[in-house]
Order: sequence, then C-alpha cells, then structure tokens
Amino acid sequence: MTIAVPTDDFDCQSCGACCSYSEDWPRFSLETDEELDRIPAEYVSADLGGMRCEDNRCSALDGKLGVHVGCKIYAVRPIVCRTCMPGDDECLMARHKLSQKVLL
Ligand code: SF4
Ligand code: SF4
Repeated sequence: MTIAVPTDDFDCQSCGACCSYSEDWPRFSLETDEELDRIPAEYVSADLGGMRCEDNRCSALDGKLGVHVGCKIYAVRPIVCRTCMPGDDECLMARHKLSQKVLL
C-alpha cells in the first residue's frame, strides 16, 4: 500500500521524518563492536541497543524538522539509517506521520 504524502520531494536535508519516528528507532542490528564504539556514548540509549531518543527524536539529529536537518554522526550512523532510502515504504510511513505535525 502506498501512503499519500503531501509532496514527492524527498529531500532528506529538509525532512528528518525517519530520524524522529519513534523512541524505539533506530535500533542497532548487525553492527560490529568496532562500529558501535565509533558512535559517541552520549547518543546511545541506556540499554545500549540503539540510539537515544528524546520525544521520538534521535538525539543525533540536528536542526529543525521539515526545514533543515542533519545527522551529527552521519559517517558512523547505524545500519538501519543507511538502508532507509528516500521514497521507500519506511520513508513514506515516517513522512506521513510527521506530516500530521509539520509541513513537509
Ligand atoms: S529517507 Fe525519507 S523520511 Fe528519511 S529523511 Fe529522507 S525523505 Fe525524510
Ligand atoms: S543516527 Fe543520524 S541518521 Fe540515524 S536516526 Fe539518528 S540522526 Fe537520523
């Protein structure tokens, strides 16, 4: 099923929806210990299983949702962040949810 979104302009740097989707996302998956060690501890959740979120928003997300955002740990971000692609089902779901609160 394709979810309707207000725009098909998938500019990640003016979106941030998938980085502010849930307090339980993103979680770590197949990262090696070395990869996880590169993520600053201040951004990691208390259970060490994913990124620390504040009100559904990943603590490593910088900027204003729907305007201009950036990942403070882009080079070492979790695998699930790398695999989320603009326009895929997860992207559409996240944008649909955020569009209830923010103009995208
Ligand atoms: S992948 Fe999709 S939801 Fe995530 S920032 Fe880019 S456009 Fe937004
Ligand atoms: S680690 Fe970066 S890319 Fe992943 S959810 Fe957080 S801000 Fe977004």
